[in-house]
Amino acid sequence: MNAETLFSIRNLHFSYEQKEALRIEMLELKANQVTLLVGPNGSGKTTLLKLINGLLKPGSGQIDFRGEAINGKGYRSMRSHSVLVHQDPFLFSGSVFQNVAYGLKIRKEAAPVIRRKVSEKLTLLGLSGFENRKAHKLSGGEKQRVAIARALVLEPEVLLLDEPAANVDNKSLKLIEALILKLQNRGATVIVSAHNRSFAYRLGSELLTLKRGRIVPGMVNIFKGFVKKQDEVFTYFASGKNLLHCPAQKGDFNTAVLPLNDVILSEREINSSAQNNFRGKVTHITREGNLYRVELACPLIVQAHITEYSINNLQVEIGKKFYLAFKASAVKLY
Ligand code: ADP
Ligand code: MG
Repeated sequence: MNAETLFSIRNLHFSYEQKEALRIEMLELKANQVTLLVGPNGSGKTTLLKLINGLLKPGSGQIDFRGEAINGKGYRSMRSHSVLVHQDPFLFSGSVFQNVAYGLKIRKEAAPVIRRKVSEKLTLLGLSGFENRKAHKLSGGEKQRVAIARALVLEPEVLLLDEPAANVDNKSLKLIEALILKLQNRGATVIVSAHNRSFAYRLGSELLTLKRGRIVPGMVNIFKGFVKKQDEVFTYFASGKNLLHCPAQKGDFNTAVLPLNDVILSEREINSSAQNNFRGKVTHITREGNLYRVELACPLIVQAHITEYSINNLQVEIGKKFYLAFKASAVKLY
């Protein structure tokens, strides 16, 4: 899969007055997928979204949209194809309908078309019948959903959502999650920030982790799939051709998460208490501080953190096959 690069960032640096908020050497955000920006509060997620939406100007470095700089030729195309929904969206006083219809009125769409489009998007967000409600009287979750409907009604190619899961009730959270999964199935491009991990895991197959303004490598494997069966001891999660043993639990899970540190590599098959045993070929080895990140195709792509000692001891190299094991209890389902 060679997805189109939508945003490409080079040597980006941004400070609020004296304080550095973001420093990214290189980053490419792809089209037709959901990208999750995760990281604790203050790590730079909002700053990054505002930079790629042109609301903030980089101190230095370059941001391109479809190969054109957004501080130049690319600006118009970026603004007409993408919409950012802020964490605390501003709704003007008046009805939900007026808020959602606003952009279409500016575009001078015909009234029946506006009514149809607004009603469609409100339904998508579980807000049908809300047309005449006062926007200011809505709950936080309802406001967030109105703001998303207001963005979607413009049918942008790229939807940027800043913390749509923060400060919303559970019903809104589930509706927003279902909406993003629906957009994902349709091949839309959505870039979402979240500090809520379980929300992020369920939505993203790839997470971009920010820490103090920098992109850092993720520390977990994220496997997409579904629960295949369950017995008293295990829940069996199917991901591609592999079946993972996970602790028995009930739920509608779509993601299994396995920390890199919990994966053991061995040359020979081992008979251990680990319930997950695969065999795979090494495809990548990258140094990360004192450790190495080793990637194996089992055929599920599994990454493990291995010490230098083990790399030498096991003579880990690209193309070589290893057995790989991890406990059922190391896998968490979301
Ligand atoms: P996140 O969205 O991940 O919580 P932000 O992008 O909002 O992070 O913030 C990144 C850093 O920039 C934080 O240290 C934050 O305190 C700082 N910051 C954010 N907005 C401003 C601002 N308007 N003025 C000064 N500092 C800010
Ligand atoms: Mg933020």
